[in-house]
Amino acid sequence: MNPMLADAPAVPLLAGDQWWSPNATDYQPVFNPSRGEIIARVPMGGAAEVERAVQAAAKAFPAWSKTPAPARAARLFALKALLEAHFDELAALVTRENGKTLDEARGDVRRGIEVVEFACCIAHLAKGEALPQVADHLDGVTLREPLGVCCGITPFNFPAMVPLWMFPLAIACGNTFVLKPSEKVPLTAVRLAELALAAEIPPGVLNVVHGGREAVDALLVHPQVAAVSFVGSTSVAQHVYATACQQGKRVQAAGGAKNVMVVMPDAEPDSTIRAIMGAAYGCAGQRCMAGSILLGVGDAAPRVQQRLSDAIGDLLVDDTSANPAAQMGPVIDPAAQQRVTSHVRQGVQQGARLFQGGRNELPAEGFFVRPTLLCDAAPDSAAAQDEVFGPVLTMLHTRDLDEAIAWANRSPYGNGAAIFTSHGGAARQFAREIQCGMVGVNVGVPAPMAVFAFSGWNRSFFGDLHVQGTEGVMFYTRQKLILSRWDATYQRHQGW
Ligand code: NAD
Repeated sequence: MNPMLADAPAVPLLAGDQWWSPNATDYQPVFNPSRGEIIARVPMGGAAEVERAVQAAAKAFPAWSKTPAPARAARLFALKALLEAHFDELAALVTRENGKTLDEARGDVRRGIEVVEFACCIAHLAKGEALPQVADHLDGVTLREPLGVCCGITPFNFPAMVPLWMFPLAIACGNTFVLKPSEKVPLTAVRLAELALAAEIPPGVLNVVHGGREAVDALLVHPQVAAVSFVGSTSVAQHVYATACQQGKRVQAAGGAKNVMVVMPDAEPDSTIRAIMGAAYGCAGQRCMAGSILLGVGDAAPRVQQRLSDAIGDLLVDDTSANPAAQMGPVIDPAAQQRVTSHVRQGVQQGARLFQGGRNELPAEGFFVRPTLLCDAAPDSAAAQDEVFGPVLTMLHTRDLDEAIAWANRSPYGNGAAIFTSHGGAARQFAREIQCGMVGVNVGVPAPMAVFAFSGWNRSFFGDLHVQGTEGVMFYTRQKLILSRWDATYQRHQGW
């Protein structure tokens, strides 16, 4: 093993109330991407590690599922209070292992806490329906019951928010949970689980395993896992969906995206540029809701391009753990740095004009990429078609809104899209005709708050019920119908 890796602290797993370390030989580095230094090593678990976590979750299920909903909510209120008390610590940890700026990390934690708040309402959210006298002397009542052991497999780009999209609602509904966080950012997940135990969520209700494909595949085929929540790239989402569905499990699998932003000639310039900058370069472009394609409509295009190239020139790209003023951080690891750089190179080879920004020298040690604008890329080039997942915005020009919508609707993905305009009719046409699940009108990143589902379409989502909102409650519960017949003569019978 690389000596730097061998010296790094090992990240523990959680089964029941036991934090433990397997006798693994295979470890992956956890980096501070701003500095390129190894800060921990994560054991790449497999079937044995998954088995231990699933057994702990299965053991905890009978008592937890019978715990009254208000008592489960009380534990979530306690978790919410602890997350607030540790808010700054969690945000700093997100920045350290993911590289996003401190402000972005605060947003990551805040959005996650909002899901816990939502889950605190479980006694109301999980109520069924009743219809007395649905037929003569017949009353109908529906209940929503938990599924059993659920699992969550999460990506690197939101180390706090995405795990919190899943387990608070799953356990509020009475399920127990196995979390398999991204091996690139396991530290925040471990801290969240520590806080869950401190909130007196009973041991076994939340468990943590680490690893990559082997651990994931063990979860997907485990007979005691009832449901799988996945967030990550489209190819893995499709694999997770196909494999777990074949095993008869309930699956929600969110994938990648290539989100389009449309700027109309009548858009308000300052707020539009601010929103585009945030959407394209926020979190160094590593968001499934990142604005990745910009379609300038009519004579908006040259002016927008000028303003954007000026704005990226001003961005302060820096070590986010050392400089709280940094406006953009690094990408996650050396592989991501190379992949993004080669996308840019290829875009230029295929005819795009290149603008690169950053007002400073990039720190030498971290995995930095300059904020990049590729203009007039070939519409069928990789820069225009593929998810780059880095700080690269590809800009194209369309004659009118119809052409922009038609272009956007050719994308196989369907997460988000945004229009910038001051014309209600254009906004309405766009919102109605665009083929994706989340639409922004003068909003660059139309990512829903916890009360709404995160509703990707097409190849950005595989399944029926999305994470968050009431769809999340539906996903983590199954409906039981009870039909009861009581009539006035019943009491006179003596039985058999
Ligand atoms: P990823 O698909 O590489 O990894 C996601 C998870 O899957 C990780 O836990 C990883 O260990 C596991 N995994 C990786 N390869 C696997 C394989 N072959 N088989 C089984 N499991 C495997 O994604 P990432 O790089 O961590 O995250 C970035 C991607 O996630 C982007 O495509 C982004 O758009 C997407 N994302 C989507 C959403 C959404 O809501 N749609 C949200 C955040 C991120």
